[in-house]
Amino acid sequence: MGIVVERLTKRFGPNKVVDDVSFEIESGALVALLGPSGGGKSTVLRIIAGLESPDSGEVILNGKNATTTRVQDRNIGFVFQNYALFRHMSVRDNIGFGLSIRKRPRKEIATTVDELLSLVQLDGLGGRFPHELSGGQRQRVALARALAPGSSLLLLDEPFGALDAKVRLELREWIRRLHKERGITSVFVTHDQEEAMDLADRVIVLHKGRVEQIGTPEEIYDRPATEFVASFVGSIN
Ligand code: ADP
Ligand code: MG
Repeated sequence: MGIVVERLTKRFGPNKVVDDVSFEIESGALVALLGPSGGGKSTVLRIIAGLESPDSGEVILNGKNATTTRVQDRNIGFVFQNYALFRHMSVRDNIGFGLSIRKRPRKEIATTVDELLSLVQLDGLGGRFPHELSGGQRQRVALARALAPGSSLLLLDEPFGALDAKVRLELREWIRRLHKERGITSVFVTHDQEEAMDLADRVIVLHKGRVEQIGTPEEIYDRPATEFVASFVGSIN
């Protein structure tokens, strides 16, 4: 799914947390929204998902203005920092949730859930509950759940946030792999420049609600457009 974000603005009270933000993401890309905490990254992601509405500006998904599309029809998978799994549901039911609310037949749900369990290498753990899994396993369930309805856009908000260093690296590989295998357009939010530079095809640097720079990791590293980008990415020597 291709995304065009045009001149988005969003205020909370007196604060303009998203300030005239525009960018384009081509179908199949793996893109990072990078910047320090409070810069508006999550708000931009939530606006794309339809969980928040902008004060002005537009989100165009596959050529169509998304404001006319209901959230559940946007075909978007969302992964949150804190996993946000349903605690009272088994792994299977968590992964199948999006399909059951779409009233898919039982058998189809079972088949898709099995496929996804093996995709994230959690075969045999479908009967467990979230508290019986490690942090990395839980985050893989969250990924599988986001992929279940056949989403053509995956939005990940600090998906590595609550995990230790080793699991973060492992999960990075997962996202790389899922992105490659499924060719799904993916946008992830991070405040970690190393993560963004390592994983993304393109990086959008957001600071104080504004786009500082958009480019490949190499462009951003070699030719930072502003002093902020230079210091944040650490290429001042
Ligand atoms: P980031 O994800 O880059 O850390 P956010 O988009 O979460 O940034 O937040 C940007 C700013 O907007 C922050 O100052 C935050 O406190 C504020 N903010 C975010 N959501 C709300 C909300 N629902 N109500 C009021 N202020 C909010
Ligand atoms: Mg955030």
